[in-house]
Amino acid sequence: MSFPAVAKKPARPVASNGAVRAALLLAWYDRHRRVLPWRPPAGERADPYAVWLSEIMLQQTGVRTVGPYFLKFLARWPDVDALGGASLDDVLRMWAGLGYYSRARNLHACAVAVKRDHGGVFPDTEEGLRALPGIGPYTASAIAAIAFGQSTMPVDGNIERVVSRLFAVEEPLPQAKPLIQQLATTLLGAGDANSRAGDSAQALMDLGSSICTPKKPACALCPLNQDCLARARGDQETFPRKALKKTGALRRGAAFVVTRGDELLVRTRAEKGLLGGMTEVPTSDWRAAQDDAAARAQAPALKGLTRWHRKAGVVTHVFTHFPLELVVYTAKAPARAAAPQGMRWVPVATLQDEALPNVMRKVIAHGLGF
Ligand code: SF4
Repeated sequence: MSFPAVAKKPARPVASNGAVRAALLLAWYDRHRRVLPWRPPAGERADPYAVWLSEIMLQQTGVRTVGPYFLKFLARWPDVDALGGASLDDVLRMWAGLGYYSRARNLHACAVAVKRDHGGVFPDTEEGLRALPGIGPYTASAIAAIAFGQSTMPVDGNIERVVSRLFAVEEPLPQAKPLIQQLATTLLGAGDANSRAGDSAQALMDLGSSICTPKKPACALCPLNQDCLARARGDQETFPRKALKKTGALRRGAAFVVTRGDELLVRTRAEKGLLGGMTEVPTSDWRAAQDDAAARAQAPALKGLTRWHRKAGVVTHVFTHFPLELVVYTAKAPARAAAPQGMRWVPVATLQDEALPNVMRKVIAHGLGF
């Protein structure tokens, strides 16, 4: 196989075919692959459980944050059978701080299904994987390629960026997704029994994360730089094109940090819906255009409570569909004050054992002055 000659600054890209690009990419991956906790040494097939666990954790979360969580989960539940036998509460507690908690509930439901319906063995096809809870088309494709060598290309944000630049895809996201998927698939290695589809996918992921970065891509180090349309035009950073985003309206509310000596008043959110099953301090509704007085009026009623003190400033948090602003009120309850119905006292010293979402960590830190 012959490769295009390397020139320092090409005026125009050299038109390569898919096989040449795929080979360049794999050769680069063999030299520069990232060492990640869920990746086996070069040449070894990945463990489907590790691939699945990491892929679920990596949805909307960066590699650096996921690393310690992945290792904690693996140490506690070394295989899908063990995770399938765990309680949802334990899984939520271990997940606390990673955000997007529906992933933790789906993770648990999926482990239960693999243990119960598949004898603790993940299905090896995209179709079989997609039938499991929490596994969408991307994750099914990633597991099928990386763990089972199936000839399929999972397209994440990193791959979208590389491919849209390489082929100068003018159509904006999300409409461009099918085209980008089609173009990304041309970067797969040979589709025979020795397919390195998983390596091709991981090569593109690594390229997007370390070289073809959103700002200032290091094109001089890129194995595909001779063949990149956007680079030849000099407008790499403008890809991928994006349609204007509609964000939800700001919601506002109040959070109530009530202490009884060294204990804090908390409750558990409903199983279904946003932050389902997680622990929180009592709060008002979260509504667009809610004024402070309306939110404050929803404070929990406890006998003998001191006056409410409004902490200066607000706690802000951005959820997927809306930003939130919470005013924090604090008050102290007398020693024997009973918790209102549906609430409980927990020692502040054991708060780390509660399934507290990030927004509540911020509220408690603000309220208790940590
Ligand atoms: S040449 Fe530059 S813009 Fe093109 S794929 Fe490589 S790093 Fe990305």
